[in-house]
Amino acid sequence: MPSWEGWWHFLKKVYFRAVMFDSARKKMVMEQILSRGVTDTQVLAAMRKVPRHLFVPLSCRSLAYADGALSIGDGQTISQPYIVAFMTQTAHVGSGSRVLEIGTGSGYQTAMLAEIANEVYSIEIIQALADQAVTRLAKLGYKNVKIKQGDGYKGWPEQAPFDAIMVTAAPLEVPSDLLGQLKVGGCMVVPVGDTYQDLRRITRTESGFEEESLMSVVFVPMVTEKKNENCSS
Ligand code: SAH
Repeated sequence: MPSWEGWWHFLKKVYFRAVMFDSARKKMVMEQILSRGVTDTQVLAAMRKVPRHLFVPLSCRSLAYADGALSIGDGQTISQPYIVAFMTQTAHVGSGSRVLEIGTGSGYQTAMLAEIANEVYSIEIIQALADQAVTRLAKLGYKNVKIKQGDGYKGWPEQAPFDAIMVTAAPLEVPSDLLGQLKVGGCMVVPVGDTYQDLRRITRTESGFEEESLMSVVFVPMVTEKKNENCSS
C-alpha cells in the first residue's frame, strides 16, 4: 500500500497537470482562436472547456494545445483547434441544434458540438475509432451524442433532417445524400477536393442551395466503405 507521502506526491502531480492543461487551453483560445476572428461565445466557452489532451495519444499530450493537427492512429488525425472552432461557428451551431458530423475520429469535434448543440449524431467509418470515441465521450459524461460506424456518404437518414452537417474528412465532390438531409435554413460545412481542399458552406434555402467558398484547408480523404476495407487489410 502506498504511503501518505506517496499519495500526496501523486495528488500534487495530478493537480499540477490539470492546472497546466487548463492554462494551456486558455492560452490556445486567446492566441489561436480569438486572435483569428472566432467570436461566437458558445464556441469559445466550449473550446476553453473540452480537454483536448484526453483526445490525443499519450505520446503527444504535451502537444495537445499546439496550433496544428495531430495523428490519432489508423492513419487519421485530430483537426487543428482553430479549424474546429471556425467550422463550428460557420455552421451556426446553437443550443437548439441537431447536428450531424461525418468523421468522428478522436471525438474531439463531437465533444465540442455536444457542448453547444442539443443533439449530436456522428458517423465514423473505422470501427476501432468509433468504439474508442464512444467510450471516451461516455467517460466524459456526454449524453446527447450518438456515434455509429458507417459510411458518412449515406448520412443518417433515420435521424434527418439536421440544422447543421459538419464534414471533417474531404470528399472530391459535395455528397448529394447529405444535402438532402439538411433542414431548410440549415447549413453544411465541408472541405471539397483532393490534396488541398476548398472549405465550403452550403446553405439550404426554400428554392435550393447557396454555396460559399471560405478558405483552403487540408483534411484526410473521405473514403468509401470499399476503399476503407482495402486500406485496413
Ligand atoms: N473530427 C475528427 C477528425 C477526423 S479526421 C476529430 O475531431 O478528431 C477524419 C475522420 O473521417 C477519420 O477518422 C476517418 O476515418 C473518417 N472518415 C473518412 N471517410 C469517412 C466516411 N466515408 N464516413 C465516415 N467517416 C469517414
